[in-house]
Amino acid sequence: MLKFKCKDAGFDCKFVAKGKTQDDILAQCASHATKDHSIKPEDITEELKEKIRKNTHKSWF
Ligand SMILES: [Zn+2]
Repeated sequence: MLKFKCKDAGFDCKFVAKGKTQDDILAQCASHATKDHSIKPEDITEELKEKIRKNTHKSWF
């Protein structure tokens, strides 16, 4: 299980994405960012994705 906390990417936010793969996490983050942070899909850059990847951690919970 992989886990990503929105907070770790620098947002003041309690959202946590959980998934089996990194793509899973990225997809959840993309819909969360557009819905809750008013980020446009085109603003989800490779840089932002890299930030998400770097802050995605393995979790047993
Ligand atoms: Zn968030």
